[in-house]
Amino acid sequence: MDVMSDPILDPLNPEQRAAVTHGDGPLLILAGAGSGKTRVLTHRVAYLIRDLAVPASAILAVTFTNKAAKEMRERLDRLVGKERLAELTVGTFHGFCARLLRREGPLVGIDRSFAIYDEADQRAVLRQAMAETNASEKVFAPGAISSVISSAKNELKGPADLAASPKGQLDRIAAIVWKRYDELLRDNNAVDFDDLLLLACRVFETSDRALEKWQDRYQHILVDEYQDTNRAQYVLLRYLAGFKQNLAVVGDDDQSVFSWRGADVRNILDFERDYPNAKVVKLEQNYRSTQRILDAAHSVVRNNAARKEKKLWTDRQGGSDIVVMQAYDESHEAELVAREIERLQREGEAHGTRDVAVLYRTNAQSRAIEDTFRAFGLAYQIVGGVSFYQRREVKDTLAYLRLIRNPQDAFALARVLNTPPRGLGDKTRAALLAAAREHEISVGEALEKAEMITTIPRRQQDALISFGKVMTRLRSAGGQLALPRLIDELVALTGYQTYLKDGTEEGEERWANVQELRTLAEDYIALPQEEQLPSFLEEIALVSDVDEYQEAKPAATLITMHAVKGLEFPVVFMTGMEEGVFPHIRAIDSGKESELEEERRLCYVGITRAKDRAYLTYARRRSLFGHTNMNPPSRFLMELPSEGVELRGDIETEERDSWADLDWERDRTRYEERKQARRDAMLAGLPAAWTGRATKQRTAVDHETRFRAGDRVLHPSLGEGMVVSSVARDDDEEVTVAFPDKGVKKLMASFAKLARAESPLGR
Ligand code: ATP
Ligand code: MG
Repeated sequence: MDVMSDPILDPLNPEQRAAVTHGDGPLLILAGAGSGKTRVLTHRVAYLIRDLAVPASAILAVTFTNKAAKEMRERLDRLVGKERLAELTVGTFHGFCARLLRREGPLVGIDRSFAIYDEADQRAVLRQAMAETNASEKVFAPGAISSVISSAKNELKGPADLAASPKGQLDRIAAIVWKRYDELLRDNNAVDFDDLLLLACRVFETSDRALEKWQDRYQHILVDEYQDTNRAQYVLLRYLAGFKQNLAVVGDDDQSVFSWRGADVRNILDFERDYPNAKVVKLEQNYRSTQRILDAAHSVVRNNAARKEKKLWTDRQGGSDIVVMQAYDESHEAELVAREIERLQREGEAHGTRDVAVLYRTNAQSRAIEDTFRAFGLAYQIVGGVSFYQRREVKDTLAYLRLIRNPQDAFALARVLNTPPRGLGDKTRAALLAAAREHEISVGEALEKAEMITTIPRRQQDALISFGKVMTRLRSAGGQLALPRLIDELVALTGYQTYLKDGTEEGEERWANVQELRTLAEDYIALPQEEQLPSFLEEIALVSDVDEYQEAKPAATLITMHAVKGLEFPVVFMTGMEEGVFPHIRAIDSGKESELEEERRLCYVGITRAKDRAYLTYARRRSLFGHTNMNPPSRFLMELPSEGVELRGDIETEERDSWADLDWERDRTRYEERKQARRDAMLAGLPAAWTGRATKQRTAVDHETRFRAGDRVLHPSLGEGMVVSSVARDDDEEVTVAFPDKGVKKLMASFAKLARAESPLGR
């Protein structure tokens, strides 16, 4: 190694270096995918500390997801070292605002110990608000109301603003519900995600002293993925940057894909107008992808009318062709993907499954892919499915912890009051809440004073009181015990441990998840006693879907096109390339060009994740959300370049122009024949493709199952079928059944209400 080498400036091209070494004043980097924007931001942080003597504690770096923040921390660790890293503020907008409100909350009427409600909690509050304001869920979907409120909050509006200029009946109702919704949140000493941004802005609006304090604290602010900032984030940055305007933003207008969440691409396009002294840097070299991949991405996105033309180049000329694969249906599509992954592995193309990402437009599409991958024994990791934090036992334990921290949290109380069962039902809870309101005390306090609730029987009063005593004990224990010990204490004293460990396998698994949460809590014991619980709860509340993703595991990543932004993989499969799926049906039905353009940008994001290979697949027919549709291939496929694209069809390869009039019947017959052959093979006890783990598990536990290969069973809607195999899972059984006409399905025995068939098959 060259002794003179400079780890901060050497790995940069001249334009990147110019951006990194820019001194004071606003800086804009507007550049395409994979051009090193995130790298510039990271290196700039290191440069500011080392060469411009900016204290690490005076730097704020904001990224889009916790995952991106984590990646940035890892890179900074190498560049600036642990000590400096600990002083930096690197996080998401929401994380930063939460931290700000822990200090300044009281300025806007928020107690410092506030809870952050996740989506499920928010929805529960919203529905209560709707019930109390007589907004019928039959007329107004809670989802619609919630999105009106959320958008308005992100535009820094209040219920009165919405009521003053409603666009329709929905807005009028939403304004009324919103007011009550906010009141309920405050009664519970809680905020929702949007409040974090809104209230942070309000702090600065309200208090010049607070504003000056935070402006002084941060001398330099850096923001990644600026194209996806919304109004509240924009305003927040304006406040923080103040007169110094040491604000460096990076982004790509072609990757703006969150307008449905209030993101406004004008924030980046108007940056030069808002900050007239801005230094503007453009980056044109892409370091991620082959020329083929860049050409494909560009050839799609250039169909957008509303965009600034820019084109990337790479010195990775050529590369593998883009592959378009046609499938018969969604499971066939998944099979094509799985086979291709196996082929790449056999031929040493992909280093392992971890190099592969499978993208889809909506989460629901993952199910078919998961089923097939499991059958193939391909390890996968799903981002955004039922996450660890959504599991019942994890939410219960967290609710207990929340209640320990915040005795006003009635929604946490609702979750655990009768878990484990204490004979405290909804009526008792309602009476408790009413009493707390009447006496203006927290629900936590009301518990121990339950004898004053005369509307409920003595037995319930006693149960409330003893529950209250347990909570009080835990609360005082919380002041002395390290967080993991507090969790031990909590599961023991509340009886939750005994309740979970009921001797079943499922109970054991649930208990293991609680232990996993405890392991997580270990990370916080280095903090001062009083900060452990709050920091733990805060970070968990802010974990977003994308953070489930762990790079270390050798597994393919299954992820939505939205969540994959900013990441990169050697091999990318984009599935469901059909009209109505991608572009999404909502965008098509809206009739708005702007919505289609956003879908097209999403397609650009997807393709540009690929380093070496990109596949786009579509199915001729697809069952999704309970409907089966035959959609034409996506318009985005038609927009691919005519060169460098290989059309592959397990069914048939056609010229793209004639995709519309394929010989449907012939293809269908062939496919059905093959499917039948597969089915026969399985019924003969030879599950051809089902190798690896799946097979091993099956042989190991066969004797414990209720159903066996060859058994005839009856399913409520699929009718009669024959069991191919059955595997014990938790305390249930995963049964693979072949149904004549309907194919082979994997079912959970009790959930699917499988019964033994009395009559013989094939009447
Ligand atoms: P996106 O728009 O997708 O967020 P980006 O512009 O942020 O992309 P980066 O993720 O920073 O791009 O960089 C893309 C890849 O190129 C990364 O693997 C990065 O390490 C590499 N890279 C960036 N700049 C250089 C450079 N000057 N020399 C070599 N590799 C580079
Ligand atoms: Mg980036």
